Amino acid sequence: MHPREALIEAVQGSLGELPPRMASRLKTILARLPQNPEPAELDKIDRFRSIIMSSAAGKDSPLVDSMDLLTASLRGIHRAARKPARAISKIDAPDLMEAAIQGPLAEAEQVLEAAHDGTGLKAEDAACLLHSGLDLEELLQAAGKVSRRVHGRTVGLYAPLYLSNECVSNCVYCGFQMQNKQVVRRTLDESEVLREATSLRKKGLRHLLLVAAENPILVDVAYLQRVVAALRPRWEAIDVELGPLSVEGYRALEKAGAGGVTIYQETYERKVFQDVHRYGLKNRYDTRLETPERALDAGLGRIGIGVLLGISEPGAELLWLIGHANYLRERYPNLQLSISLPRFRPESTGYDAPYPVSDEQFLRYAATARLALPWAGFVVSTREEPAMRERLLRAGATRLSAESSTNPGGYSVAPESGQQFEIADHRSIDEVALSIEKADLRPIWSP
Ligand code: SF4
Repeated sequence: MHPREALIEAVQGSLGELPPRMASRLKTILARLPQNPEPAELDKIDRFRSIIMSSAAGKDSPLVDSMDLLTASLRGIHRAARKPARAISKIDAPDLMEAAIQGPLAEAEQVLEAAHDGTGLKAEDAACLLHSGLDLEELLQAAGKVSRRVHGRTVGLYAPLYLSNECVSNCVYCGFQMQNKQVVRRTLDESEVLREATSLRKKGLRHLLLVAAENPILVDVAYLQRVVAALRPRWEAIDVELGPLSVEGYRALEKAGAGGVTIYQETYERKVFQDVHRYGLKNRYDTRLETPERALDAGLGRIGIGVLLGISEPGAELLWLIGHANYLRERYPNLQLSISLPRFRPESTGYDAPYPVSDEQFLRYAATARLALPWAGFVVSTREEPAMRERLLRAGATRLSAESSTNPGGYSVAPESGQQFEIADHRSIDEVALSIEKADLRPIWSP
């Protein structure tokens, strides 16, 4: 049987998982599917897939697996079965971490020794590196060494360009949350975006990260397409950090000239995720978790993932992040993945992060992440102070933001608009570049 027919048959065989009306609609669509479906027909099937994946979150579901393979195959993508939510939630991160940090030091030392080969670690092995008995300096040195062996001595510089702070979500930890009345709201129009970009371009930057609060009306795909297309001729690389889009949405941005998507899960702990993303678009756990794959399916090859340290048990979050990264690499061997571990910074929200992360813990997490995922890039933003950023450079950071502003228009157009968080490194791009050189590394102005 042709693989596509086999996949359709597999979906049809699992339709019992759906409510009868939905099952019947999907059955009819599949029965009428032409040999070369139009994009609109593919979108329809994609929408079914999204609904099915969201409703089956965390459960074993043959329908999810077969729908996923079918939608990939209809778009000409062939790959192994996907199980994102379950692949990650299967890692019992809190237990693993507890066992490893209380386990024998000799075991942790063995894992560190093995990590020197630069092939990376599974989450369960990475847990051992969180053992407090391991010397932190030794860990940091190993991380730096392995990272340089894989990535060379270059460190990319980039800057975020905020398009909008008019958010329809209410995340407890974020200055942009809808109910924060202290924020001066602003969405840049296209000419303002170009002016902002020009002021960054003059400083030598060639890699831009477009950031926007979640607002599918003000920041819709058409607006994003226009902005990306207008910027692209003058920028070597443009990535976006936005609320999740569909495959079609990402495809439109890729056609306009975007090359990557940054999307942090913030927390992989499902219960905490629901608690901190109180309402609004961001509280769809699975939609967010599957976003990197939708972006990759659309042809955007540069992906950034991360967790916001402080809102949940950080060691467990790190292990889930490692599990997620390894999972993505297994399915998309050519992806260019980077990870980031932003620490919560106090905002004008009154939120008190329940798991503050000390500098020492943070360095241990960073070094562990480098050794577990040496093939991935490691991004450090201006949330961290200069001294910490310099330590992280030596421990394998591969990309730094510089001279960042976290409000729309903050570089030149609208300095008065509200910022997402207070930055901690106020050095100029040239000063950051100099500090990279002082660490015997080479700053580059692209990804
Ligand atoms: S984290 Fe994002 S979605 Fe949540 S309030 Fe802030 S900008 Fe909006």
